[in-house]
Amino acid sequence: MTLAPAVSPDLESVAGAQARLLDGVSTLPPEQVGLGDALGRILAQTVSSQSDLPGFDNSAMDGYAVRASEIGTATVTAPVRLPVVGESRAGAMPIALGPGTAMRIMTGAPMPAGADTVVRQEDTSRDGADVLIEVATAEGTSVRLRGADMAAGTTVLRPGLQLTSVDIAVAAALGNANLTVGSRPRVALLATGDELVAAGTPPGPAQLVDSNSPMLAAAAHEAGALPTFLGIGRDSKDALRTLLQTAAAFDLIVSSAGVSVGDHDWVREVVSELGTISTWRVAMRPGKPVLTGRIGGAIFIGLPGNPVSSSVTFELFARPVIRKMQGAEQLHRRRIQVRLGEEMIKPQPLETYARAVLRETSGDLPSATSSGNQGSSMLQSLTRADCLVVLPAGLEVVPAGTVVEAIPLR
Ligand code: AMP
Ligand code: MG
Repeated sequence: MTLAPAVSPDLESVAGAQARLLDGVSTLPPEQVGLGDALGRILAQTVSSQSDLPGFDNSAMDGYAVRASEIGTATVTAPVRLPVVGESRAGAMPIALGPGTAMRIMTGAPMPAGADTVVRQEDTSRDGADVLIEVATAEGTSVRLRGADMAAGTTVLRPGLQLTSVDIAVAAALGNANLTVGSRPRVALLATGDELVAAGTPPGPAQLVDSNSPMLAAAAHEAGALPTFLGIGRDSKDALRTLLQTAAAFDLIVSSAGVSVGDHDWVREVVSELGTISTWRVAMRPGKPVLTGRIGGAIFIGLPGNPVSSSVTFELFARPVIRKMQGAEQLHRRRIQVRLGEEMIKPQPLETYARAVLRETSGDLPSATSSGNQGSSMLQSLTRADCLVVLPAGLEVVPAGTVVEAIPLR
């Protein structure tokens, strides 16, 4: 089936709001780190091979270095006998190999000049000072040629890449002890709400534990930021003003709650007093109110308070901002295609991010079904979910069998 585009004049589409937000984000000046601190960081330089890797022809096997032309008749029943002249071991340059001789050689050890082939140990037997070659081995066998992995001048890693352990190995192999990477954005986190108590404090009647702040701190850290929790702001303009004035010194401010139309939702008013607002209502569920703007030099993102809305809107808006500040090429999470295993109902104008579990199917896309109650305060269905399936704006009923995009969560 074809999927209709977003429809709602008073709401901004998710993609539109993301693009506008990201447009105003600049990359922070990069910094240099040692390889031990480079995991997960965003590379801000190219990494190229200055010289060939490997730097010399070497053996891929434990065995004997020979001239292939001298062992062309070798078989188990009629082996070729060669005197063994010395050894090539890792870390030392061997003498040259004279005609009619073989040299013991270990994996990674340099090929002696004159040799062109390594016969693996399993295809030989020893007889005193001689080796009996039992298999005619073609020229070049078990030899790793100089430059075969990376020739001099090859650019192997590019700016914008998020470094894995393997990328760190590549950088090390190419002679780097340090790398220039995107700086970690400093992110100020604040919660707002008179009902909130900090995790570990037993909530009184009508109180609620602030679960958003630990979640957002972890999510910000995972995105590469350095989060600082500024505290729980009470539902008053003065309390919010004080916190937001402190927060303005950071690169990014992420608050949760108080952005809706309730009588005690002051965030929008205080942000517009201290700075500017660019987006407020986004055509999505969960999380329709998402406030974005600026306070001083900081980007401001006001997430909705319900924990699932907070999590999903952080993923869609704050995470790409944090990644752009580090210079990442890939700003958004990877998406996969899944097939709905059941009908899903949603508000027609809203792009809906439904919590779902995936089941592998043989020969078809993974099948996605709801992970439970889709209410925006229901954390259990989020912790159970493997992914968020993206149900397009414009549809109210999305039939079972429809192919949709999904954002893997774990
Ligand atoms: P609000 O946008 O302030 O009306 O908050 C919406 C809902 O989210 C309310 O039920 C709040 O109690 C809840 N909520 C707000 N902040 C948090 C938080 N930091 N942790 C968990 N729930 C929250
Ligand atoms: Mg509130």
